[in-house]
Amino acid sequence: MNLTPYQMYINGRYCEAQSGNRFDSLTPSTAQPWASFPDATEVDADIAVTAAHQAFVSPAWAGLTATARGKLLRTLGDLIADHRELLAELESRENGKLIRETRGQMGYLPEFFYYMAGLADKIEGQTLPVDKSDMMAYTLHEPMGVVAAIVPWNSPLYLTAIKMAPALAAGNTLVIKPSEHASASIVALGKLVEQAGFPAGVVNIITGYGPSAGAALTRHPLVRHVAFTGGAATARHVVRSSAENFAHLSLELGGKSPQIVFPDADIDSAVNGIVAGVFAASGQSCVAGSRLLIHDSIYDEVVARVCERASRICIGDPLAEETEMGPMTTLAQLDIADNMVQQAISEGAVLRYGGQRVECNGGWYFQPTLLESDSSSNSLMQEEVFGPVTAAIRFHTEAEALALANDTRYGLAAGIWTRDIARAHRLSKAVRSGIIWVNTYRVVSAMAPIGGFGDSGYGREGGIEAVLSYTEKKTVWVNLSSEPMSDPFVMR
Ligand code: NAD
Repeated sequence: MNLTPYQMYINGRYCEAQSGNRFDSLTPSTAQPWASFPDATEVDADIAVTAAHQAFVSPAWAGLTATARGKLLRTLGDLIADHRELLAELESRENGKLIRETRGQMGYLPEFFYYMAGLADKIEGQTLPVDKSDMMAYTLHEPMGVVAAIVPWNSPLYLTAIKMAPALAAGNTLVIKPSEHASASIVALGKLVEQAGFPAGVVNIITGYGPSAGAALTRHPLVRHVAFTGGAATARHVVRSSAENFAHLSLELGGKSPQIVFPDADIDSAVNGIVAGVFAASGQSCVAGSRLLIHDSIYDEVVARVCERASRICIGDPLAEETEMGPMTTLAQLDIADNMVQQAISEGAVLRYGGQRVECNGGWYFQPTLLESDSSSNSLMQEEVFGPVTAAIRFHTEAEALALANDTRYGLAAGIWTRDIARAHRLSKAVRSGIIWVNTYRVVSAMAPIGGFGDSGYGREGGIEAVLSYTEKKTVWVNLSSEPMSDPFVMR
């Protein structure tokens, strides 16, 4: 089999790993290898970080005005728009996400760059009304330095853009490490970065495994911010190793997000929202609505309708237009989904639909799956599957719904389905999660922060604050007095 050989992008050049080693990437729809990538290790991470650091202090980047940085970001956004079909196809091939979904994501991707391009020259400090008549004080937002962006396989470019655009807008430089399961679209982005005219070394991409290439980035002393999206177990490693150099961190982790359906909801919309929330992208979404909290009076109807819609989902090749659910991205993820369903059943959950692997071209497919549980302590109510599996439970009162919603270590997203405006706002405030969707689900925007509570991580991506999170705030004091400085032993 002829594999497409990709290279890394360091200091404006395409290159191999220093070891010369490569690894293969498999396409999940057939489980066959389709591409190979350099297997970067510590030495490559060091070369990339050093290049990024040199670019950070170089006049070619540090000497640009913020407006000029914004223009570069805008050009990159335009180039992504021009190449969206290619990028969508690459992502669908490598992570098995539906082409209609990756097309949608790529179509929107430029907005992150346009929005952050606009913010680049609006990162304003403040003049401080200090209580010292002979002093003037003001603040500046300075870029941090080298940012390591470590991303998972489920939405490689989207999760890169949401880090890269604000980090560059603020004047930082980057080393990006994609997942070993989905590196191609991010490597392809390197070409567009080059075409856009970014100086060499401003954006670097290394491919490789987490414990080698990823970990080397997180402990590198020149890395000043680690922007990580992935699982909680990996995040614990990232926190520990970045602590060595006190690098700033943003952690976007998993979730066990509830969909709460009240009797006054538009049931048609709620059913669609539930299906979109957990079966779209085969549930391999950090915001998957994987717990269904449904009011007793409509419980049987909603569960029956979700199962009926699940039974009609067209499973197959993610590149085919008619497909509604593609494969799991990795065999490990397929095994996790399968094992977690069996475990939940052994703990008393009742399988209502799905629960089986699907044979299709040798790929890693799993049925859309719904189980019922009368206990919030069932493992399926507590642990993230990252697959097309959801667990339904009844509630009788709003207080009970709220207690169930918050009975989780996670807190990434929640869906609230009701026509009662007061209840919608009451619960939006009371549910402990970073995103609340009322009568909708899975809506994102470059202008809106995303991030979690608890085990879903900390820090927010998107929105105005994202750009500030990639800056260090500096306070400048200027003595306005022409008098000589007085007693050196007294604090002024
Ligand atoms: P993962 O944690 O296994 O890997 C994520 C990235 O970390 C990969 O690039 C990997 O190579 C790297 N990595 C692994 N070990 C490392 C180490 N020791 N040091 C540094 N880097 C290391 O996650 P995954 O399986 O790729 O993705 C699935 C997880 O990501 C799920 O838990 C999901 O919920 C989460 N996720 C969260 C969001 C969000 O925005 N909150 C979005 C998508 C996915």
